[in-house]
Amino acid sequence: MQFSELGLSAELLRAIGEQGYTTPTPVQQQAIPHILAGRDLEAMAQTGTGKTAAFVLPILQRLTNPLTSPLQKVTHTAPRVLVLVPTRELAAQVLESVRVYGAHTGLRSLAVFGGVGINPQIQTMRRGIDILVATPGRLLDHLGQRTVDLSKVQTLVLDEADRMFDMGFIRDIRRIIERLPKERQNLMFSATFAAEVRELAHTVLRNPAMVEVARRNAPAELVTHTVIKVDQDRKRDLLLHLFAAHGWHQVLVFCRTKHGSDALAKKLEQAGVRTAALHGNKSQNARTRALADFKSGKLAALVATDIAARGLDIDSLPRVVNFELPNVPEDYIHRIGRTGRAGASGEALSLVSSDERIQLRDIERLLKREIETSILPGFEPQHTHAVPRPAAGRPPAQKPAQARTRSGNGGRSGAPRSSRPARSGDGGAKPASHHSGQRHR
Ligand code: AMP
Repeated sequence: MQFSELGLSAELLRAIGEQGYTTPTPVQQQAIPHILAGRDLEAMAQTGTGKTAAFVLPILQRLTNPLTSPLQKVTHTAPRVLVLVPTRELAAQVLESVRVYGAHTGLRSLAVFGGVGINPQIQTMRRGIDILVATPGRLLDHLGQRTVDLSKVQTLVLDEADRMFDMGFIRDIRRIIERLPKERQNLMFSATFAAEVRELAHTVLRNPAMVEVARRNAPAELVTHTVIKVDQDRKRDLLLHLFAAHGWHQVLVFCRTKHGSDALAKKLEQAGVRTAALHGNKSQNARTRALADFKSGKLAALVATDIAARGLDIDSLPRVVNFELPNVPEDYIHRIGRTGRAGASGEALSLVSSDERIQLRDIERLLKREIETSILPGFEPQHTHAVPRPAAGRPPAQKPAQARTRSGNGGRSGAPRSSRPARSGDGGAKPASHHSGQRHR
């Protein structure tokens, strides 16, 4: 299928061509006709599937068509489209997409989110905008100050609805929805439709068309998963070793806590790896700069927490490292969704200590397979039981001299050593005493 077959206008086709897109992705093929027809939509699709263009393109088309947007010729300042997103980064990215795809439409857009001054947002809004992208908190600030008028909204998009729940925005969203005209088109995008998301869908969407696309970053197919077992207090040294041994660049490293991200970023910097940390305590400017530097290749590593990394769109990221496993297994899928994009292969490497075996087990259950596991010479774990269970006997401690591999289903069972990260052990590293690590988010 070609974009031209979707009935998009010449201005939009031109912008799409300028982006070098040749064919619409599955979510675009399925969603665009419904949205163009004015229907509500419930779409199960995650970042990386092309979902942003799937809603932005038909929205732009409807806004520029006098039949579907009669306000077009009227002088107006109030937005006709509201896109709610969970994070500042996603707001900035969606705005960028709106501007890129709408480059030849003359439509005006703005993103409002916290962490930056509110006054420039107010001034831009006064001049008039067609499409408003917003995080819930800052939008409520604007509503409280009466600096935004939502009475002309004809289309509402809830992007990454599941993330909005995770981040506790549901009440804010409901408050915002109360301020919208009753007659409107509603589009909801979510990577998952768990019970609470479904309930919101039921109350917001009217007779929606349903679209469900396979994860573009289907973890089993596009991403190579590897676990290296290592003690918690040896992880930093191991990570440094891997950077040095493999000349890594553009590695997104996930930590569980802000403090942990800062400490690791500092350690990497000190060792000469150009690094920035990305988490919720960083100013918006610092976050934007870190992301831009990482995308442009100036930084070799970006150390991020889950919250900060949600919805990041980084093209062809070769590698994601889980310095610590997430507590929620779905977050693993989300993290590794940053790599293996657009059909490229990617690597998801997790450094797993003995106190993370429950998380690892849950992730493997979710993936429905075991992850190949290895141990690097010089970094052999000395601690195999962080949480001893009184009833169960202790398994013998592992003291391998060589890198060892446990293959997943269908893997090369019994291979003498892992083919991937265990390439060059430098040996000589001595085991250090164990500490269980702080676990506060
Ligand atoms: P999204 O799922 O919206 O975050 O999009 C993921 C990435 O896919 C973005 O970098 C888009 O620029 C890109 N993209 C979106 N649609 C297409 C398409 N039809 N062909 C190629 N790339 C696309």
